[in-house]
Amino acid sequence: MQTIKAAVCRAFNEPLVIEDIQIAPPGTGEVEVTLDAVAICHSDITYASGAWGGHLPAVYGHEAAGVITATGDSVGGFQVGDAVVVTLIRACGSCPSCAGGQPTICETPYDSVNGPLRTADGGPLDQAMACGAFAEKVVVSHRQIVKIPESMPKDVASLLSCGVITGVGAAVNAAKLRPGQDVVVIGAGGVGLNAIQGARLAGARRIVAVDMTEEKLEIAKEFGATHGVLAHLKQPWKAAFKALGGRGADAVLITVGAIPAYDQAPRYLGRGGKAIMIGMPHSGDMSTYEPVVLAALGQGVVGSKMGDVVIQRDIPWMIDLYEQGRLKLDELISGRWSLDQINEAIEDTKTGSAKRNVILFDRG
Ligand SMILES: [Zn+2]
Ligand SMILES: [Zn+2]
Repeated sequence: MQTIKAAVCRAFNEPLVIEDIQIAPPGTGEVEVTLDAVAICHSDITYASGAWGGHLPAVYGHEAAGVITATGDSVGGFQVGDAVVVTLIRACGSCPSCAGGQPTICETPYDSVNGPLRTADGGPLDQAMACGAFAEKVVVSHRQIVKIPESMPKDVASLLSCGVITGVGAAVNAAKLRPGQDVVVIGAGGVGLNAIQGARLAGARRIVAVDMTEEKLEIAKEFGATHGVLAHLKQPWKAAFKALGGRGADAVLITVGAIPAYDQAPRYLGRGGKAIMIGMPHSGDMSTYEPVVLAALGQGVVGSKMGDVVIQRDIPWMIDLYEQGRLKLDELISGRWSLDQINEAIEDTKTGSAKRNVILFDRG
C-alpha cells in the first residue's frame, strides 16, 4: 500500500476532508494512474449530498487524466508512461451487454468498497464510481482508460471522461441524429453544451437550447445552438415549436436532473420524435407523461447512460475532432483549482453558472 492525498467524503452534505489515504498496487488487468487533472461533475455533487446513497467514507471524482505509473498483468498493451484519460466505465468485456456493444450498461457488479482504497488506519474506503479520482492516484481496470496524445493538456483531456462523451454520445449514439433533423437540448451545462456540439457534429438543422438564463443561452449558441428558449416560460415548448418552423423536434435531449424537465420533454417532440433521458435525477424522483400521446404520435422516451459510448471507439475520434478545431474542449473549462480548494470548486459548480471546474494536481 502507498499513502496518497485525497478529498474524502466522511458525511453527506459536509465539506470533503483532505486526508492521507492508502491505495493498493494494481492487480491483474489493472493500472495505477498518477493524476494531473480531475474535473468536478454534478454526479460527484449528487453523491456527496447523499441523494444516491452509497457507502461512507468515500472518494468521489470520475473525470480524470494522468499518466500510467504502474501496471498489473494483462493490461492490453498499456505501459508505464502512457498518458490516459480515466473513465468510470468499468466494463467486464464479456457479459451480454458488453458483448452486445453496450459497455456502459455492463452487468458485472464491481465491489468498490473492497477495491484498492483504505483509510490511513486501514479501514474501508469506497472507491466511488470505480474511480475515486479526487485523489493523487487511482487504480482502475485497463478497460476504463484510453490513451491520449502526450501533447494534449490533461485538464482539457479530463473532460472527455464524462461530460463530453455523455453529451456528444447522446446526440450521436443514443439519438442517432441524421443531418437535417431538429433537436431540442434541455439544459446548457457541462453535458448540455456537449449534447449541443454533438448535434452540430451530426448535422442537425436547428438546435434549440432550453435553460434558465439568457447568459446560459448565449453560451449555448457559442457551442452550436441556433435558438434559445427560457425554461421558465409558461409553455416553453411553444417557443421551441416556433423556432422549429411550427413542428416539434426529432429528438429532445434532457441533460438536467430537475423533474419538470422530464415531465415537459415529450411536449417538445414532433411526430416520431424521441426524448433521450441523459441527466441523473435523485433516486426516487418520479416523472409523468401521457402515454396515449406517445402512442398516437409514434414517440418514444428512452434512457442513455454515459452517451452509450464505447470509449475505445469514441474517445479517439473526439480527440481528433478537438485537434482539428471541430470539438470545443478548452472553452468548457470555467475554473482551475488545487485539491486543497476542492470544496470551493464544488460550491462554485453548485451555483450552476460554471461550465466545468477542474482540479489540477501539483506533481512537484
Ligand atoms: Zn460525470
Ligand atoms: Zn460487462
